[in-house]
Amino acid sequence: MSRESILLFGRIKQSPRLYFVPYLLNWGFSLADHNFNKETDEKFELMDWLVSMPKVELHAHLNGSIRNSTLLELARELGEKGTIIFSDFEHVIKKNDRSLREVFKLFDLIHIVTTDHKTITRITKEVVEDFAAENVVYLELRTTPKRNDSIGMSKRSYMEAVVEGLRSVSSLDINFCCDDIEKCSSDRIEKKKIFVRLLLSIDRRESSEAAMETVKLAMEMRDAGVVGIDLSGNPTVGEWATFFPALKSAREHGLSVTLHCGEVPNSVEIQEMLDFLPGRIGHACCFQDQEWRKLKSSKIPVEICLTSNIRTETISSVDVHHFGQFFFLIRKIR
Ligand SMILES: [Zn+2]
Repeated sequence: MSRESILLFGRIKQSPRLYFVPYLLNWGFSLADHNFNKETDEKFELMDWLVSMPKVELHAHLNGSIRNSTLLELARELGEKGTIIFSDFEHVIKKNDRSLREVFKLFDLIHIVTTDHKTITRITKEVVEDFAAENVVYLELRTTPKRNDSIGMSKRSYMEAVVEGLRSVSSLDINFCCDDIEKCSSDRIEKKKIFVRLLLSIDRRESSEAAMETVKLAMEMRDAGVVGIDLSGNPTVGEWATFFPALKSAREHGLSVTLHCGEVPNSVEIQEMLDFLPGRIGHACCFQDQEWRKLKSSKIPVEICLTSNIRTETISSVDVHHFGQFFFLIRKIR
């Protein structure tokens, strides 16, 4: 079992709430959204308590965590250069509830605005600062290393820009790789502390060769805090067989693997993913009964974000969200 899985189980065993609260906060959860019958003061009190609690964030996409203000600034600059039509994107950026389709439209924009090293470094720094401000103490940040020959960007130079962003965080006591531990504990003890680890994502649009290149890069960058591989991207694109060799290689070389699984109904792929026995899976929204049984018997930890699933309309309401099934399962385990 990977170190991250132990951490996840540990949290669940102490208190199931500690596991899902980070997701509510980090996706901009509003208590009012869910019709809590509480007085306003009680809501603020509860929110203060939620924010103050130390949290573990295991499912944060770098590009999905960019500040709206930064995104608007970058999109406006691209609009002025004529690269995009700013008004086409302004509405989607400012919108609170985005469908899954709109989310991927936004990711298309983010792919355009994050094509230079300087911007990637800036975004990484801001994202870590924002998570720390919400009292996240352990953050796993995942991102797809991108190659863009026209601007001299390789997957490696993309990741070096990310690491540069981590190094440039001066307001925090940040631990993101092994050789920083001593430095953190002695030099900057008075600052708020955060542990950051990196997952390299394989985008479902990528080829087998590109996926393997990402895995090799992850192995080479272990000293920079890379702990695993993620499979993500538009769930209606790509085939499991394309990514399987790279994911298998990652596991054989000791990297943890997490898969976005069951975001859309796709029974064949869900079965193949569960048979792979990944260290974790994300979402598990569209599981049929037999897939549920398989998941439960395999005891694969699941990363769940209620707010994301509701806002992207993957699940219609909190009342029918599959988190409830997990919650009762955890109670049985305890
Ligand atoms: Zn995700």
